[in-house]
Amino acid sequence: MEYYSPTDLNEAYALLDKYGEDAIPIAGSTFYMGHREELFDEVEAVINIKQLGLSYIRQDGDGLHIGATTTLNEIFAHGLTRKGPFGILATTVQELNINEVRNMATIGGEVCIAGEVDMPTTLLAYDADIVIGGSKGVRRMSMADFHIGYLNNALEPGEMVLEVQLPQPPANTGGGFAKFERTAADLPIVNVATRISLDDAGVCTDARVVAGAATLSGIPERSGAAEAALLNQVIDAALIEAAAAASADVACINDFRVSAEIRSLWVKCGIEDALKRAFAAARQGEQS
Ligand SMILES: Cc1cc2nc3c(=O)[nH]c(=O)nc-3n(C[C@H](O)[C@H](O)[C@H](O)COP(=O)(O)OP(=O)(O)OC[C@H]3O[C@@H](n4cnc5c(N)ncnc54)[C@H](O)[C@@H]3O)c2cc1C
Repeated sequence: MEYYSPTDLNEAYALLDKYGEDAIPIAGSTFYMGHREELFDEVEAVINIKQLGLSYIRQDGDGLHIGATTTLNEIFAHGLTRKGPFGILATTVQELNINEVRNMATIGGEVCIAGEVDMPTTLLAYDADIVIGGSKGVRRMSMADFHIGYLNNALEPGEMVLEVQLPQPPANTGGGFAKFERTAADLPIVNVATRISLDDAGVCTDARVVAGAATLSGIPERSGAAEAALLNQVIDAALIEAAAAASADVACINDFRVSAEIRSLWVKCGIEDALKRAFAAARQGEQS
């Protein structure tokens, strides 16, 4: 097996084109080291993408830009993602209790896995886009379209993720994240992320209610019924409870870790908790 560490994107693209499906790009490499070490034996080349200048967090008129190789702990520590409109990102990282993993795992790795990870659930709730690059050019895709099945994303051979972009949320928007896992070292069994926007009269003008890690489809899913219950309504505790109950439209997976029935219950409880946090943050205009 060959190991490469390109220092510019064209060099990386040339390697990806040369090896095609016989190469894997690695960023934090925690997925392979932690869960799938045997996959290293099945490829001809490993391409380390950490030297490509893709570790950054910045904001402009379009919203927030996070480079693909930015680590989870960099997101946790950065002023733009620790509090304010995008503080939900640090809250999401905080729920991963293994510091060594947070130091290495990257946002690009999180979105590429399309499995039991936390960040895509939050990114779907914040209408994120994924910026994709390859020798044929750069394209972008919504987080909603990027995952096409369990451990399956929409990257074509020769492509890699360059950046994650989050649009600027309107004023009086708040987010909430909640997670269930067996132990701190375990992958999530259920995670949920919510986002609520309020107008000056306290009416909900936009809502996202997303469940991940638990779904039958294997990828994060919005609960259309929960969002519909909130939209154009004045939010209170009873409405939050009703919206959480409506999240039963997300079909949960039944596997050796936890039954579908328990997962559905945890999705409901997590959504209720996350909606309460989102509502409180939206009312304070703080968005955390
Ligand atoms: C014990 C343990 C517990 C964990 N618990 C959690 C948890 O609770 N919540 C959570 O969210 N995460 C958790 N993780 C992390 C998670 O499982 C993944 O390991 C992590 O998200 C992968 O990020 P990475 O940067 O290390 O990716 P890598 O391991 O480097 O890569 C992962 C996959 O993505 C591809 N890839 C990576 N970056 C790119 C890119 N820019 N473009 C194209 N393809 C790319 C790789 O080819 C590979 O297929 C845990 C990890 C371990 C080891």
